[in-house]
Amino acid sequence: MKFYFFAKALEQMADTESRNEMTDILAGVLKKASPKEARIIAYLLQGEIGPQFKKLKLNIAENFCSEAMAKAFGKKKKSIKENYGKAGDLGDVARKLSKKEKHTLELKQAYSELKSIAESSGAGSHQEKLERLASLLKKAAPLEAKYLARMVVGDLRVGASTYTFLDALSLAKTGKGEFREELERQYNNSSDLGLVAEEFMKKGKDAFEASVIQLYSPLRPQLAQRASSADEILESMKKAAIEPKYDGFRVQLHCKGKKVKLYSRNLKETTDMFPEIVKAARKQIKEEAIIDGEALAYDENTESFYPFQITIQRKRKYGVEEKMKELPLRMFAFDLLYKKGKSLMQLPYRKRKEELKRIIKKGKTIEVAEETITGKSAEIKELFEKYLDRDLEGLMAKDPNSHYIAGARKHAWLKLKQSYRGKLADTVDVVILGYLRGKGKRAKLGIGALIGGVYNEREDGFETIAKIGSGLSEKQTKKLKKMLDKIRLKKKPKKVKSKLDADVWVKAKYVIEVTADQITRSPTHTCASEKGKGLSLRFPRTVSFIRADKDAKDATTTSEIRRMFEKQKK
Ligand code: ATP
Repeated sequence: MKFYFFAKALEQMADTESRNEMTDILAGVLKKASPKEARIIAYLLQGEIGPQFKKLKLNIAENFCSEAMAKAFGKKKKSIKENYGKAGDLGDVARKLSKKEKHTLELKQAYSELKSIAESSGAGSHQEKLERLASLLKKAAPLEAKYLARMVVGDLRVGASTYTFLDALSLAKTGKGEFREELERQYNNSSDLGLVAEEFMKKGKDAFEASVIQLYSPLRPQLAQRASSADEILESMKKAAIEPKYDGFRVQLHCKGKKVKLYSRNLKETTDMFPEIVKAARKQIKEEAIIDGEALAYDENTESFYPFQITIQRKRKYGVEEKMKELPLRMFAFDLLYKKGKSLMQLPYRKRKEELKRIIKKGKTIEVAEETITGKSAEIKELFEKYLDRDLEGLMAKDPNSHYIAGARKHAWLKLKQSYRGKLADTVDVVILGYLRGKGKRAKLGIGALIGGVYNEREDGFETIAKIGSGLSEKQTKKLKKMLDKIRLKKKPKKVKSKLDADVWVKAKYVIEVTADQITRSPTHTCASEKGKGLSLRFPRTVSFIRADKDAKDATTTSEIRRMFEKQKK
Protein backbone atom coordinates (compact mmCIF):
# COMPACT_ATOMS: atom_id res chain seq x y z
CA MET A 1 0.00 0.00 0.00
CA LYS A 2 1.18 3.46 -0.84
CA PHE A 3 1.59 5.82 2.07
CA TYR A 4 -0.37 8.34 0.03
CA PHE A 5 -3.45 6.13 0.16
CA PHE A 6 -3.31 6.19 3.96
CA ALA A 7 -2.54 9.93 4.11
CA LYS A 8 -5.52 10.68 1.91
CA ALA A 9 -7.78 8.72 4.21
CA LEU A 10 -6.38 10.58 7.22
CA GLU A 11 -7.20 13.85 5.52
CA GLN A 12 -10.76 12.75 4.81
CA MET A 13 -11.17 11.55 8.37
CA ALA A 14 -9.89 14.82 9.76
CA ASP A 15 -12.50 16.60 7.67
CA THR A 16 -15.55 14.80 8.93
CA GLU A 17 -17.46 15.23 12.16
CA SER A 18 -19.34 11.98 11.73
CA ARG A 19 -18.02 8.91 13.45
CA ASN A 20 -19.82 6.62 11.02
CA GLU A 21 -18.23 8.30 8.10
CA MET A 22 -14.85 8.05 9.76
CA THR A 23 -15.40 4.34 10.31
CA ASP A 24 -16.30 3.84 6.65
CA ILE A 25 -13.23 5.68 5.42
CA LEU A 26 -10.97 3.68 7.70
CA ALA A 27 -12.65 0.41 6.73
CA GLY A 28 -12.00 1.32 3.10
CA VAL A 29 -8.29 1.57 3.84
CA LEU A 30 -8.15 -1.62 5.89
CA LYS A 31 -9.89 -3.56 3.15
CA LYS A 32 -6.99 -2.87 0.88
CA ALA A 33 -4.35 -3.54 3.55
CA SER A 34 -2.41 -6.73 4.13
CA PRO A 35 -2.42 -8.04 7.72
CA LYS A 36 1.01 -6.48 8.31
CA GLU A 37 -0.18 -3.17 6.91
CA ALA A 38 -3.27 -3.29 9.11
CA ARG A 39 -0.93 -3.60 12.07
CA ILE A 40 1.05 -0.56 10.97
CA ILE A 41 -2.12 1.47 10.45
CA ALA A 42 -3.27 0.56 13.96
CA TYR A 43 -0.10 1.95 15.48
CA LEU A 44 0.25 5.05 13.34
CA LEU A 45 -3.36 6.04 13.97
CA GLN A 46 -2.68 6.04 17.69
CA GLY A 47 0.40 8.16 17.11
CA GLU A 48 2.62 5.24 18.04
CA ILE A 49 5.00 2.88 16.33
CA GLY A 50 4.26 -0.11 18.52
CA PRO A 51 1.87 -1.02 21.31
CA GLN A 52 1.45 1.83 23.77
CA PHE A 53 3.10 0.00 26.64
CA LYS A 54 6.38 -0.39 24.78
CA LYS A 55 8.98 2.19 25.62
CA LEU A 56 9.92 2.88 22.03
CA LYS A 57 8.36 6.24 21.12
CA LEU A 58 8.80 8.86 18.43
CA ASN A 59 8.73 11.69 20.94
CA ILE A 60 9.99 14.35 18.59
CA ALA A 61 9.79 17.96 19.65
CA GLU A 62 8.31 20.51 17.28
CA ASN A 63 11.56 22.37 17.25
CA PHE A 64 13.43 19.29 16.11
CA CYS A 65 10.87 18.56 13.43
CA SER A 66 11.20 22.14 12.17
CA GLU A 67 14.93 21.63 11.88
CA ALA A 68 14.44 18.44 9.88
CA MET A 69 11.93 20.21 7.63
CA ALA A 70 14.39 23.01 7.00
CA LYS A 71 16.94 20.46 5.95
CA ALA A 72 14.54 18.46 3.80
CA PHE A 73 13.04 21.40 1.95
CA GLY A 74 16.12 23.60 1.79
CA LYS A 75 14.69 26.41 3.91
CA LYS A 76 15.91 28.39 6.90
CA LYS A 77 14.72 27.07 10.23
CA LYS A 78 13.63 30.56 11.13
CA SER A 79 11.23 30.76 8.23
CA ILE A 80 9.74 27.36 9.11
CA LYS A 81 9.18 28.60 12.63
CA GLU A 82 7.53 31.78 11.42
CA ASN A 83 5.20 29.85 9.18
CA TYR A 84 4.45 27.46 11.98
CA GLY A 85 3.62 30.41 14.21
CA LYS A 86 1.08 31.58 11.63
CA ALA A 87 -0.42 28.21 10.70
CA GLY A 88 -0.32 26.60 14.14
CA ASP A 89 0.30 23.25 12.50
CA LEU A 90 3.63 21.89 11.33
CA GLY A 91 1.74 19.55 9.04
CA ASP A 92 0.33 22.45 7.05
CA VAL A 93 3.76 24.01 6.76
CA ALA A 94 5.26 20.73 5.51
CA ARG A 95 2.48 20.36 2.99
CA LYS A 96 3.19 23.75 1.47
CA LEU A 97 6.92 23.15 1.30
CA SER A 98 6.97 19.73 -0.31
CA LYS A 99 7.31 19.99 -4.06
CA LYS A 100 7.39 16.31 -4.84
CA GLU A 101 4.74 15.26 -7.30
CA LYS A 102 4.94 11.48 -7.44
CA HIS A 103 3.69 9.28 -4.70
CA THR A 104 6.44 6.74 -4.35
CA LEU A 105 6.57 6.20 -0.63
CA GLU A 106 5.24 2.84 0.58
CA LEU A 107 3.36 2.59 3.89
CA LYS A 108 5.75 -0.10 5.10
CA GLN A 109 8.76 1.93 4.16
CA ALA A 110 7.46 5.04 5.92
CA TYR A 111 6.76 2.97 9.02
CA SER A 112 10.14 1.27 9.11
CA GLU A 113 11.89 4.61 8.72
CA LEU A 114 9.81 6.14 11.50
CA LYS A 115 10.74 3.17 13.61
CA SER A 116 14.43 3.55 13.04
CA ILE A 117 14.13 7.24 13.87
CA ALA A 118 12.61 6.24 17.20
CA GLU A 119 15.28 3.64 17.75
CA SER A 120 18.26 5.87 17.22
CA SER A 121 19.38 7.02 20.61
CA GLY A 122 22.59 7.60 22.50
CA ALA A 123 25.63 9.67 21.64
CA GLY A 124 25.54 11.23 18.19
CA SER A 125 21.95 10.19 17.71
CA HIS A 126 20.70 13.76 17.40
CA GLN A 127 22.39 14.20 14.07
CA GLU A 128 21.45 10.74 12.90
CA LYS A 129 17.81 11.26 13.79
CA LEU A 130 17.80 14.59 12.03
CA GLU A 131 19.26 13.14 8.84
CA ARG A 132 16.77 10.29 8.84
CA LEU A 133 13.75 12.43 9.41
CA ALA A 134 14.87 14.93 6.77
CA SER A 135 15.45 12.17 4.28
CA LEU A 136 12.02 10.68 4.96
CA LEU A 137 10.34 14.07 4.51
CA LYS A 138 12.20 14.55 1.27
CA LYS A 139 10.59 11.43 -0.13
CA ALA A 140 7.13 12.72 0.69
CA ALA A 141 4.63 14.48 -1.56
CA PRO A 142 2.67 17.37 0.03
CA LEU A 143 -0.14 15.46 1.73
CA GLU A 144 2.23 12.75 2.85
CA ALA A 145 4.58 15.31 4.35
CA LYS A 146 1.69 16.85 6.20
CA TYR A 147 0.80 13.64 7.98
CA LEU A 148 4.38 12.55 8.55
CA ALA A 149 5.10 15.84 10.30
CA ARG A 150 1.98 15.49 12.41
CA MET A 151 2.86 11.91 13.27
CA VAL A 152 6.34 12.59 14.47
CA VAL A 153 5.30 15.42 16.77
CA GLY A 154 2.48 13.24 18.11
CA ASP A 155 -0.41 15.42 17.02
CA LEU A 156 -2.30 13.66 14.24
CA ARG A 157 -5.54 15.65 14.71
CA VAL A 158 -7.66 13.02 13.05
CA GLY A 159 -9.73 12.04 16.05
CA ALA A 160 -10.10 8.33 15.32
CA SER A 161 -10.29 6.37 18.53
CA THR A 162 -9.44 2.78 19.32
CA TYR A 163 -13.14 1.98 19.08
CA THR A 164 -13.53 3.55 15.68
CA PHE A 165 -10.60 1.46 14.57
CA LEU A 166 -12.12 -1.76 15.93
CA ASP A 167 -15.43 -1.01 14.23
CA ALA A 168 -13.63 -0.37 10.99
CA LEU A 169 -11.66 -3.57 11.34
CA SER A 170 -14.76 -5.69 11.68
CA LEU A 171 -16.38 -3.85 8.81
CA ALA A 172 -13.37 -4.27 6.55
CA LYS A 173 -13.10 -7.99 7.04
CA THR A 174 -16.74 -9.06 7.13
CA GLY A 175 -18.76 -6.15 5.81
CA LYS A 176 -20.48 -5.86 9.20
CA GLY A 177 -19.78 -4.58 12.67
CA GLU A 178 -20.54 -7.97 14.21
CA PHE A 179 -17.10 -8.70 15.66
CA ARG A 180 -16.63 -5.44 17.41
CA GLU A 181 -17.18 -6.89 20.90
CA GLU A 182 -14.79 -9.78 20.45
CA LEU A 183 -12.20 -7.48 18.96
CA GLU A 184 -12.56 -5.20 21.93
CA ARG A 185 -12.04 -8.14 24.26
CA GLN A 186 -8.87 -9.14 22.42
CA TYR A 187 -7.66 -5.59 22.70
CA ASN A 188 -8.42 -5.40 26.41
CA ASN A 189 -6.52 -8.62 26.96
CA SER A 190 -3.41 -7.59 25.07
CA SER A 191 -3.42 -3.78 24.91
CA ASP A 192 -1.90 -4.24 21.47
CA LEU A 193 -4.17 -2.89 18.75
CA GLY A 194 -1.65 -3.82 16.07
CA LEU A 195 -1.55 -7.43 17.15
CA VAL A 196 -5.34 -7.64 17.21
CA ALA A 197 -5.57 -6.11 13.73
CA GLU A 198 -2.96 -8.34 12.15
CA GLU A 199 -4.36 -11.55 13.62
CA PHE A 200 -7.93 -10.69 12.67
CA MET A 201 -7.04 -9.72 9.12
CA LYS A 202 -5.11 -12.96 8.81
CA LYS A 203 -7.52 -15.40 10.42
CA GLY A 204 -10.91 -13.70 10.68
CA LYS A 205 -12.95 -14.95 13.59
CA ASP A 206 -10.60 -17.90 14.13
CA ALA A 207 -8.29 -15.34 15.66
CA PHE A 208 -10.54 -15.26 18.72
CA GLU A 209 -9.76 -18.83 19.62
CA ALA A 210 -6.20 -18.14 20.56
CA SER A 211 -5.64 -16.31 23.81
CA VAL A 212 -3.77 -13.13 23.25
CA ILE A 213 -2.69 -12.89 26.86
CA GLN A 214 1.05 -12.79 26.97
CA LEU A 215 3.61 -12.22 29.62
CA TYR A 216 5.00 -8.69 29.38
CA SER A 217 1.94 -7.39 27.50
CA PRO A 218 -0.23 -5.72 30.13
CA LEU A 219 -3.96 -6.35 30.21
CA ARG A 220 -6.25 -3.39 30.60
CA PRO A 221 -7.18 -3.57 34.27
CA GLN A 222 -10.68 -4.43 35.46
CA LEU A 223 -12.34 -1.45 37.13
CA ALA A 224 -14.98 -0.99 39.79
CA GLN A 225 -18.37 0.67 39.94
CA ARG A 226 -19.44 2.83 42.82
CA ALA A 227 -21.73 1.60 45.56
CA SER A 228 -23.13 3.87 48.22
CA SER A 229 -24.02 1.37 50.95
CA ALA A 230 -23.60 -2.17 52.20
CA ASP A 231 -27.17 -2.95 51.24
CA GLU A 232 -26.59 -1.84 47.73
CA ILE A 233 -23.65 -4.21 47.49
CA LEU A 234 -25.82 -7.12 48.57
CA GLU A 235 -28.54 -6.17 46.11
CA SER A 236 -26.08 -6.70 43.35
CA MET A 237 -24.37 -9.88 44.66
CA LYS A 238 -25.70 -12.35 47.19
CA LYS A 239 -22.35 -12.82 48.80
CA ALA A 240 -19.39 -10.56 48.45
CA ALA A 241 -15.68 -10.96 48.94
CA ILE A 242 -14.84 -7.84 50.91
CA GLU A 243 -11.30 -6.51 50.70
CA PRO A 244 -9.72 -3.33 51.99
CA LYS A 245 -9.49 -0.57 49.42
CA TYR A 246 -5.86 0.44 49.48
CA ASP A 247 -5.24 3.97 48.37
CA GLY A 248 -2.09 3.69 46.32
CA PHE A 249 -1.50 2.86 42.69
CA ARG A 250 -2.36 -0.12 40.62
CA VAL A 251 0.44 -2.52 39.82
CA GLN A 252 0.19 -5.30 37.29
CA LEU A 253 3.10 -7.60 37.83
CA HIS A 254 4.38 -9.99 35.16
CA CYS A 255 7.07 -12.46 36.15
CA LYS A 256 8.87 -15.51 35.01
CA GLY A 257 11.98 -16.50 36.91
CA LYS A 258 14.13 -13.44 37.35
CA LYS A 259 12.41 -11.42 34.66
CA VAL A 260 9.88 -9.14 36.32
CA LYS A 261 8.00 -6.25 34.76
CA LEU A 262 5.49 -3.87 36.28
CA TYR A 263 2.74 -1.87 34.58
CA SER A 264 0.55 0.99 35.75
CA ARG A 265 -3.21 1.46 35.52
CA ASN A 266 -2.79 3.15 32.17
CA LEU A 267 -0.39 0.53 30.85
CA LYS A 268 2.89 2.33 31.24
CA GLU A 269 5.86 0.28 32.24
CA THR A 270 6.90 1.20 35.79
CA THR A 271 9.47 -1.53 36.50
CA ASP A 272 12.33 0.91 37.11
CA MET A 273 10.33 2.96 39.59
CA PHE A 274 9.74 0.24 42.14
CA PRO A 275 12.87 -1.87 42.55
CA GLU A 276 11.78 -3.28 45.90
CA ILE A 277 8.71 -4.87 44.32
CA VAL A 278 10.82 -6.36 41.55
CA LYS A 279 13.27 -7.76 44.06
CA ALA A 280 10.53 -9.15 46.25
CA ALA A 281 8.76 -10.75 43.28
CA ARG A 282 11.91 -12.71 42.45
CA LYS A 283 11.92 -14.15 45.93
CA GLN A 284 8.27 -14.42 46.79
CA ILE A 285 6.50 -15.51 43.62
CA LYS A 286 6.89 -19.14 42.88
CA GLU A 287 5.39 -19.40 39.41
CA GLU A 288 5.31 -17.72 36.04
CA ALA A 289 2.40 -15.35 36.62
CA ILE A 290 0.47 -12.15 35.96
CA ILE A 291 -0.70 -10.63 39.22
CA ASP A 292 -2.94 -7.65 39.80
CA GLY A 293 -2.55 -5.53 42.92
CA GLU A 294 -2.14 -2.17 44.56
CA ALA A 295 1.06 -0.72 45.99
CA LEU A 296 1.32 1.92 48.67
CA ALA A 297 3.83 3.35 51.10
CA TYR A 298 3.79 2.01 54.59
CA ASP A 299 5.14 3.64 57.72
CA GLU A 300 6.91 0.99 59.76
CA ASN A 301 7.19 3.24 62.82
CA THR A 302 3.53 3.94 63.23
CA GLU A 303 2.46 0.75 61.47
CA SER A 304 0.10 2.66 59.26
CA PHE A 305 -0.42 3.37 55.60
CA TYR A 306 0.59 6.68 54.15
CA PRO A 307 -2.08 8.67 52.31
CA PHE A 308 -2.09 8.71 48.53
CA GLN A 309 -0.47 12.17 48.39
CA ILE A 310 2.61 10.68 50.05
CA THR A 311 2.67 7.39 48.16
CA ILE A 312 2.50 9.24 44.86
CA GLN A 313 5.98 10.65 45.53
CA ARG A 314 7.26 7.24 44.51
CA LYS A 315 6.16 7.86 40.93
CA ARG A 316 9.39 9.34 39.70
CA LYS A 317 12.12 8.70 37.20
CA TYR A 318 15.03 10.13 39.19
CA GLY A 319 16.15 9.69 42.77
CA VAL A 320 14.37 6.35 42.91
CA GLU A 321 16.76 4.75 45.40
CA GLU A 322 16.61 7.54 47.98
CA LYS A 323 12.84 7.78 47.87
CA MET A 324 12.60 4.04 48.13
CA LYS A 325 14.51 4.14 51.42
CA GLU A 326 12.31 6.90 52.73
CA LEU A 327 9.01 5.45 51.56
CA PRO A 328 9.22 1.71 50.97
CA LEU A 329 6.21 0.21 49.27
CA ARG A 330 4.05 -2.73 50.04
CA MET A 331 2.16 -4.45 47.31
CA PHE A 332 -1.18 -6.03 48.08
CA ALA A 333 -1.91 -8.66 45.48
CA PHE A 334 -5.59 -9.26 44.86
CA ASP A 335 -5.85 -11.19 41.64
CA LEU A 336 -4.14 -13.80 39.52
CA LEU A 337 -4.82 -13.55 35.81
CA TYR A 338 -2.37 -15.98 34.35
CA LYS A 339 -0.25 -18.83 35.54
CA LYS A 340 2.29 -21.07 33.80
CA GLY A 341 1.25 -20.18 30.28
CA LYS A 342 -2.51 -20.25 30.91
CA SER A 343 -5.12 -17.57 31.35
CA LEU A 344 -7.11 -17.90 34.58
CA MET A 345 -9.53 -15.12 33.74
CA GLN A 346 -12.43 -17.48 33.22
CA LEU A 347 -12.13 -18.98 36.70
CA PRO A 348 -14.39 -17.61 39.44
CA TYR A 349 -12.75 -14.98 41.59
CA ARG A 350 -12.61 -17.14 44.67
CA LYS A 351 -10.62 -19.78 42.79
CA ARG A 352 -8.20 -17.22 41.41
CA LYS A 353 -7.64 -15.85 44.87
CA GLU A 354 -6.96 -19.33 46.27
CA GLU A 355 -4.39 -19.91 43.56
CA LEU A 356 -2.89 -16.55 44.29
CA LYS A 357 -2.38 -17.42 47.93
CA ARG A 358 -0.70 -20.61 46.87
CA ILE A 359 1.92 -19.03 44.66
CA ILE A 360 2.99 -16.18 46.92
CA LYS A 361 5.51 -16.95 49.65
CA LYS A 362 5.36 -15.00 52.86
CA GLY A 363 7.50 -11.90 52.83
CA LYS A 364 7.61 -8.28 53.79
CA THR A 365 6.90 -6.55 50.51
CA ILE A 366 4.25 -8.57 48.70
CA GLU A 367 1.16 -9.69 50.56
CA VAL A 368 -2.14 -11.11 49.46
CA ALA A 369 -5.01 -8.70 50.13
CA GLU A 370 -7.08 -9.98 53.03
CA GLU A 371 -10.69 -10.82 52.35
CA THR A 372 -13.91 -11.75 54.10
CA ILE A 373 -16.68 -13.48 52.22
CA THR A 374 -20.02 -12.44 53.62
CA GLY A 375 -23.68 -11.99 52.81
CA LYS A 376 -24.45 -9.87 55.85
CA SER A 377 -24.87 -6.17 55.60
CA ALA A 378 -23.93 -5.59 59.26
CA GLU A 379 -20.65 -7.36 58.72
CA ILE A 380 -19.86 -5.28 55.66
CA LYS A 381 -20.53 -2.09 57.65
CA GLU A 382 -18.25 -3.29 60.40
CA LEU A 383 -15.44 -4.04 57.97
CA PHE A 384 -15.89 -0.65 56.39
CA GLU A 385 -15.43 1.09 59.76
CA LYS A 386 -12.48 -1.11 60.57
CA TYR A 387 -10.72 -0.26 57.31
CA LEU A 388 -11.33 3.45 57.70
CA ASP A 389 -9.76 3.26 61.16
CA ARG A 390 -6.69 1.79 59.54
CA ASP A 391 -6.47 4.80 57.23
CA LEU A 392 -7.66 2.86 54.22
CA GLU A 393 -9.92 4.40 51.64
CA GLY A 394 -12.91 2.15 52.13
CA LEU A 395 -13.66 -1.29 50.79
CA MET A 396 -13.94 -3.26 47.60
CA ALA A 397 -16.68 -5.82 47.21
CA LYS A 398 -16.18 -8.50 44.60
CA ASP A 399 -18.53 -11.13 43.36
CA PRO A 400 -16.81 -14.41 44.35
CA ASN A 401 -18.13 -16.12 41.23
CA SER A 402 -17.17 -13.51 38.67
CA HIS A 403 -14.62 -13.77 35.87
CA TYR A 404 -11.90 -11.22 35.38
CA ILE A 405 -12.99 -8.87 32.64
CA ALA A 406 -10.10 -6.80 31.38
CA GLY A 407 -10.83 -3.15 30.79
CA ALA A 408 -14.39 -3.32 32.07
CA ARG A 409 -16.17 -1.41 34.78
CA LYS A 410 -18.87 -3.86 35.81
CA HIS A 411 -20.97 -4.79 38.82
CA ALA A 412 -18.60 -7.63 39.64
CA TRP A 413 -16.43 -5.13 41.51
CA LEU A 414 -18.01 -2.46 43.66
CA LYS A 415 -16.19 0.20 45.62
CA LEU A 416 -17.49 1.78 48.77
CA LYS A 417 -15.61 4.86 49.88
CA GLN A 418 -15.90 7.30 52.70
CA SER A 419 -17.86 10.22 51.43
CA TYR A 420 -15.81 13.32 50.95
CA ARG A 421 -16.26 16.73 52.50
CA GLY A 422 -19.06 17.41 50.09
CA LYS A 423 -22.21 15.39 49.75
CA LEU A 424 -21.32 13.39 46.70
CA ALA A 425 -20.46 9.83 47.64
CA ASP A 426 -17.34 9.88 45.53
CA THR A 427 -15.08 12.28 43.75
CA VAL A 428 -15.20 12.70 40.01
CA ASP A 429 -12.14 12.55 37.77
CA VAL A 430 -12.50 15.42 35.42
CA VAL A 431 -10.46 16.11 32.32
CA ILE A 432 -9.41 19.70 31.75
CA LEU A 433 -10.73 20.86 28.38
CA GLY A 434 -9.86 24.54 28.61
CA TYR A 435 -10.06 27.52 30.87
CA LEU A 436 -11.59 30.95 31.35
CA ARG A 437 -9.26 33.76 32.25
CA GLY A 438 -11.50 35.22 34.93
CA LYS A 439 -11.53 38.60 36.59
CA GLY A 440 -9.79 40.42 39.41
CA LYS A 441 -7.35 38.52 41.55
CA ARG A 442 -7.85 35.31 39.64
CA ALA A 443 -7.08 36.94 36.34
CA LYS A 444 -3.62 37.68 37.70
CA LEU A 445 -2.99 33.97 38.12
CA GLY A 446 -4.08 33.50 34.52
CA ILE A 447 -6.89 31.06 35.21
CA GLY A 448 -10.29 32.03 36.57
CA ALA A 449 -11.98 28.69 36.08
CA LEU A 450 -11.18 25.40 34.46
CA ILE A 451 -13.64 23.84 32.09
CA GLY A 452 -13.94 20.26 33.23
CA GLY A 453 -15.33 17.40 31.22
CA VAL A 454 -16.09 13.72 31.40
CA TYR A 455 -15.60 11.05 28.78
CA ASN A 456 -18.52 9.79 26.73
CA GLU A 457 -17.45 6.29 25.81
CA ARG A 458 -20.18 5.62 23.33
CA GLU A 459 -19.51 8.71 21.28
CA ASP A 460 -15.83 8.76 22.05
CA GLY A 461 -15.91 12.44 22.95
CA PHE A 462 -15.78 14.75 25.92
CA GLU A 463 -18.73 16.58 27.45
CA THR A 464 -18.52 19.47 29.89
CA ILE A 465 -19.71 19.00 33.45
CA ALA A 466 -18.33 21.90 35.48
CA LYS A 467 -16.55 25.18 35.68
CA ILE A 468 -14.07 24.70 38.48
CA GLY A 469 -12.68 27.77 40.16
CA SER A 470 -11.59 26.56 43.56
CA GLY A 471 -9.48 24.03 45.33
CA LEU A 472 -6.06 24.76 43.87
CA SER A 473 -3.47 26.90 45.63
CA GLU A 474 -2.04 29.95 43.87
CA LYS A 475 1.17 28.09 43.26
CA GLN A 476 -0.64 25.11 41.77
CA THR A 477 -2.75 27.39 39.58
CA LYS A 478 0.33 29.08 38.17
CA LYS A 479 2.01 25.76 37.53
CA LEU A 480 -1.11 24.41 35.89
CA LYS A 481 -1.37 27.46 33.64
CA LYS A 482 2.11 26.81 32.32
CA MET A 483 1.29 23.16 31.70
CA LEU A 484 -1.94 24.02 29.92
CA ASP A 485 -0.41 26.69 27.75
CA LYS A 486 1.95 24.10 26.37
CA ILE A 487 -0.99 22.12 25.01
CA ARG A 488 -3.24 24.97 23.95
CA LEU A 489 -5.25 24.66 20.77
CA LYS A 490 -6.38 27.23 18.25
CA LYS A 491 -10.02 26.24 18.54
CA LYS A 492 -12.35 23.84 20.24
CA PRO A 493 -11.46 20.30 19.12
CA LYS A 494 -14.04 18.19 17.34
CA LYS A 495 -14.26 15.71 20.17
CA VAL A 496 -15.40 18.26 22.71
CA LYS A 497 -19.10 19.00 23.04
CA SER A 498 -19.51 22.33 24.78
CA LYS A 499 -21.88 25.26 25.07
CA LEU A 500 -19.27 27.25 26.92
CA ASP A 501 -16.73 29.20 25.03
CA ALA A 502 -13.33 28.82 26.62
CA ASP A 503 -10.79 31.62 26.49
CA VAL A 504 -8.25 28.90 25.89
CA TRP A 505 -8.99 25.38 24.68
CA VAL A 506 -6.43 22.72 25.45
CA LYS A 507 -5.77 19.20 24.33
CA ALA A 508 -7.70 16.74 26.52
CA LYS A 509 -4.82 15.40 28.54
CA TYR A 510 -4.81 16.26 32.22
CA VAL A 511 -7.17 14.71 34.74
CA ILE A 512 -7.93 16.26 38.12
CA GLU A 513 -9.99 14.92 40.99
CA VAL A 514 -12.98 17.03 41.87
CA THR A 515 -15.55 16.88 44.63
CA ALA A 516 -18.94 18.60 44.67
CA ASP A 517 -22.08 18.89 46.70
CA GLN A 518 -24.45 17.43 44.17
CA ILE A 519 -25.12 16.59 40.59
CA THR A 520 -27.81 18.80 39.10
CA ARG A 521 -29.41 19.46 35.72
CA SER A 522 -28.09 22.54 34.01
CA PRO A 523 -28.55 24.14 30.61
CA THR A 524 -24.89 25.19 30.58
CA HIS A 525 -23.36 21.75 30.37
CA THR A 526 -23.47 18.98 27.81
CA CYS A 527 -22.85 15.87 29.95
CA ALA A 528 -25.68 13.34 29.39
CA SER A 529 -27.77 16.09 27.88
CA GLU A 530 -31.53 15.63 27.66
CA LYS A 531 -33.90 18.25 26.27
CA GLY A 532 -31.16 20.81 26.27
CA LYS A 533 -30.12 20.23 29.86
CA GLY A 534 -27.01 18.39 30.88
CA LEU A 535 -25.72 17.09 34.18
CA SER A 536 -23.38 19.31 36.13
CA LEU A 537 -21.46 19.43 39.36
CA ARG A 538 -22.77 21.85 41.95
CA PHE A 539 -20.04 23.70 43.89
CA PRO A 540 -17.17 21.78 42.39
CA ARG A 541 -13.70 22.04 43.90
CA THR A 542 -10.45 20.36 43.04
CA VAL A 543 -9.19 17.95 45.68
CA SER A 544 -6.06 16.72 43.99
CA PHE A 545 -3.69 18.10 41.42
CA ILE A 546 -3.07 16.26 38.12
CA ARG A 547 -3.65 12.53 38.42
CA ALA A 548 -0.59 11.11 36.74
CA ASP A 549 -2.03 7.63 36.61
CA LYS A 550 -4.94 8.63 34.40
CA ASP A 551 -5.12 9.67 30.77
CA ALA A 552 -7.97 11.74 29.40
CA LYS A 553 -10.04 8.70 28.52
CA ASP A 554 -9.64 7.32 32.03
CA ALA A 555 -11.66 10.24 33.36
CA THR A 556 -15.06 9.53 34.86
CA THR A 557 -17.49 8.62 32.10
CA THR A 558 -20.87 10.06 31.18
CA SER A 559 -22.57 6.80 32.12
CA GLU A 560 -20.96 6.83 35.56
CA ILE A 561 -22.24 10.36 36.13
CA ARG A 562 -25.69 9.30 35.01
CA ARG A 563 -25.59 6.44 37.53
CA MET A 564 -24.42 8.75 40.30
CA PHE A 565 -27.26 11.12 39.46
CA GLU A 566 -29.85 8.32 39.56
CA LYS A 567 -28.52 7.10 42.89
CA GLN A 568 -28.62 10.55 44.38
CA LYS A 569 -32.32 10.82 43.49
CA LYS A 570 -33.12 7.75 45.59
P1 ATP B 1 -10.86 3.66 38.84
O1 ATP B 1 -12.01 2.86 39.34
O2 ATP B 1 -11.11 4.36 37.57
O3 ATP B 1 -9.55 2.96 38.93
P2 ATP B 1 -9.69 5.43 40.67
O4 ATP B 1 -8.36 5.23 40.13
O5 ATP B 1 -10.14 6.78 41.08
O6 ATP B 1 -10.81 4.90 39.74
P3 ATP B 1 -11.07 4.15 42.60
O7 ATP B 1 -12.28 4.44 41.82
O8 ATP B 1 -10.95 4.87 43.86
O9 ATP B 1 -9.80 4.44 41.82
O10 ATP B 1 -11.02 2.58 42.83
C1 ATP B 1 -10.54 1.58 41.97
C2 ATP B 1 -9.08 1.35 42.24
O11 ATP B 1 -8.85 0.94 43.58
C3 ATP B 1 -8.44 0.22 41.47
O12 ATP B 1 -8.10 0.65 40.18
C4 ATP B 1 -7.22 -0.12 42.30
O13 ATP B 1 -6.14 0.67 41.88
C5 ATP B 1 -7.60 0.30 43.70
N1 ATP B 1 -7.73 -0.79 44.67
C6 ATP B 1 -7.37 -0.68 45.97
N2 ATP B 1 -7.62 -1.80 46.65
C7 ATP B 1 -8.16 -2.67 45.78
C8 ATP B 1 -8.63 -4.02 45.89
N3 ATP B 1 -8.61 -4.68 47.03
N4 ATP B 1 -9.12 -4.60 44.78
C9 ATP B 1 -9.15 -3.93 43.59
N5 ATP B 1 -8.73 -2.66 43.44
C10 ATP B 1 -8.23 -2.03 44.52
